[in-house]
Amino acid sequence: MSKQASSPQPSHGVDAVIAESLPLQPTSDTVSVLERDNLFRVASMQVKEAAEAVGISPAVQAILAQPKNELIINFPVRMSDGEYHMFKGYRVQHNNLLGPFKGGMRFHHEANLDEMKALASWMTYKSALHDIPFGGAKGGIKFDPRSYAKEELERITRRFTHALGANIGPEWDIPAPDVGTNEQTMVWMMDTYMNSVGSWEKNSVHRIVTGKSIAAGGSYGRREATGQGVVHCITEWALEHGHNLDGVPFMVQGFGNVGSFTARILSKMGAVLVGTGDAGGYIANPEGLNPHKLGEHVERAGTVAGYGNGRTISREEFFALDADIFVPAALELEIGPEEAKALRCKLVVEGANGPTHPDGERILHDRGVQIIPDILANSGGVVVSYYEWLQNKRSERWDRAEVQDRLERRMQRTISQVRQYASRNDLTWRMASYGIALERLQTGYRERGIWP
Ligand code: NAD
Repeated sequence: MSKQASSPQPSHGVDAVIAESLPLQPTSDTVSVLERDNLFRVASMQVKEAAEAVGISPAVQAILAQPKNELIINFPVRMSDGEYHMFKGYRVQHNNLLGPFKGGMRFHHEANLDEMKALASWMTYKSALHDIPFGGAKGGIKFDPRSYAKEELERITRRFTHALGANIGPEWDIPAPDVGTNEQTMVWMMDTYMNSVGSWEKNSVHRIVTGKSIAAGGSYGRREATGQGVVHCITEWALEHGHNLDGVPFMVQGFGNVGSFTARILSKMGAVLVGTGDAGGYIANPEGLNPHKLGEHVERAGTVAGYGNGRTISREEFFALDADIFVPAALELEIGPEEAKALRCKLVVEGANGPTHPDGERILHDRGVQIIPDILANSGGVVVSYYEWLQNKRSERWDRAEVQDRLERRMQRTISQVRQYASRNDLTWRMASYGIALERLQTGYRERGIWP
């Protein structure tokens, strides 16, 4: 599947100082199902395969194999009934060689340390792939936000932000929204942080988070940026293969921020949403679902289930729908072997982080289904987060057209680099995306070395 892209450089500087071997080795038939489905293991296997294909030194591989910092905070919050609940929060800071740690905050009842480690490492590679001066981080709280009232969510978010203290900072570690969090969550985080610094500093720390509302200093175009980036990947793929998107059937798993904006933008271009689903169920309509009306239904009902203009289907039926493009935009490891065999699409564009299990990926690859990998496909969010951070830092406000134009040019440039790198080195797009990012990180380590 892949060949050596460049020979390893002679060992010197940083390469010479680390003798530690990588803690995680590629899959074998002997690993347990539990280990095989561990997200950090999956991420580590992907990175190791790419690093070996492009000749990254064992020392740089060893540095990147574990996050720099892993923080777990247990904290109490008073609920509306007067009772106190304990919560477990995480912040994993993977790497900050190229710039401050950067990454989302996830509120989900299955959040765990290994998931955070995987997601944090993907942020490092995503930023490096785009040549954005950010590192990688991820965090969140293990709880189901749908089970709490708004004022409780505010207290949980503020208490967690306060507990994080100096572990986040506008030039140190900058959170953003992810699953279960949104602009409101970011505004609470920002406001809590602002109130913890001296009053003369307040207005210089807006950029402590990105993905804020416009009124709180957010950027035009950030809300839809991840979905817009997914669509840029699709339009570039269509151009390359001579396809017209008008009338092309597509399906989206997850109808939250990423999934709903992808569906809205693609539908506007003439493509037809034939199926979607979320934590509440799946629906289909071969004539097309209207993502705007569906969005209004989700606002009211909290799920796509029960939408009048769609037929209720099972998860199995969803994966077997007749569609050319599939955008997974929910959670990780959703495409296993069974799903990969069932899918009838030509293209999978990973809106979610880590949606494809390596066992599913092998099947898709053998069947000739192209995958545009997460670190490229869903990178529109971090690109516009970077623009938001820059606007805050410079006290500027860019209009929507400027943000969208910059995002489009950056996505097109990076997609073209990945395409060329993949074809030059006979690599999949996933391996090529990692390859570009890893080479940038390796150059940084080679030039700077490890102090002392
Ligand atoms: P969100 O909370 O807005 O939406 C998540 C969606 O997934 C919801 O529709 C939810 O119902 C659905 N879902 C949850 N569990 C499910 C299950 N078991 N089966 C089917 N659907 C399920 O989150 P989001 O911000 O849209 O994030 C979605 C994915 O995109 C995540 O992997 C996230 O890490 C990734 N991502 C998000 C951004 C961003 O800017 N928000 C950027 C890059 C990557």
